[in-house]
Amino acid sequence: MIIDIHTHTFPDNVAEKALKGLSNDGLLHPFTDGTYDGLLRSVKSSGVDGAVVLPIATKPSQTENINAIAYDVNQHFEETGIMSFGTLHPQNEDKDRIIKDLKEKGFKGIKVHPIFQGCFFDDPEMKRIIACANDMDLIIMTHSGRDISYPGMENSATEHIIPVLKEVKPKKMILAHMGSWGQWGKGFSVFTEYDVYIDTAFAVKPAYLKEKPRDPECDFMEKEAFCRWIKKTGPERILFGTDSPWSSQKESIELIKDMPLSFLEKKKILGDNAKALLGL
Ligand SMILES: [Zn+2]
Repeated sequence: MIIDIHTHTFPDNVAEKALKGLSNDGLLHPFTDGTYDGLLRSVKSSGVDGAVVLPIATKPSQTENINAIAYDVNQHFEETGIMSFGTLHPQNEDKDRIIKDLKEKGFKGIKVHPIFQGCFFDDPEMKRIIACANDMDLIIMTHSGRDISYPGMENSATEHIIPVLKEVKPKKMILAHMGSWGQWGKGFSVFTEYDVYIDTAFAVKPAYLKEKPRDPECDFMEKEAFCRWIKKTGPERILFGTDSPWSSQKESIELIKDMPLSFLEKKKILGDNAKALLGL
């Protein structure tokens, strides 16, 4: 079973504009048209069995609408294999109610993105979200490290993640992008020291990308370094993710399959770990 724990879609009427805005002036190439149907086509053609959509409220006023769409997506999970996490914004007043509501509606987790949401991961508002979601036994997925679109932004840097891990001790925490996008050594240190999951999304350079990220302090991860990590840490807490539409699900699966890892290690990374975490 192959589960892609990290994908994105946008409402049909804004998908085109959203992809344009997020493409870094054409540096990044989208592999779907950004819509739910586009993701569904990619899932079917690439052999992915399950995909998790990670919406992000970039304004408090978006939360309700995004979660309503996400709920709809989840009602079709059995047929489509696509599920969505919920979201909320650090500036939402009624965080506890929103999170309780997500839990009651059967959501498996939430996604936060400190850079897109204008706060630091260890700000009190974000800590409240993490603590409350953890109390509700929800999975918490956060962007971690730098972001290719925002050079130099430290909102979800390791230094801001560690205090929350120490204080809240979330039980089901996923740090996206190998624990620290663009600054892989930092991610490795968190991963080996704390009980967190990491996803593989957009970590190893996609084949189409010829240029380096604009952030001079960042680069993609080498395939060899990726394998070294897994050999050192074991595959148990590593989850396959693609950041679709920003990399090809098909190519990303091939990348894992081509790695000098055992059949069982690849099986865990590609789906078994996520299946257990999501309770499927
Ligand atoms: Zn992403």
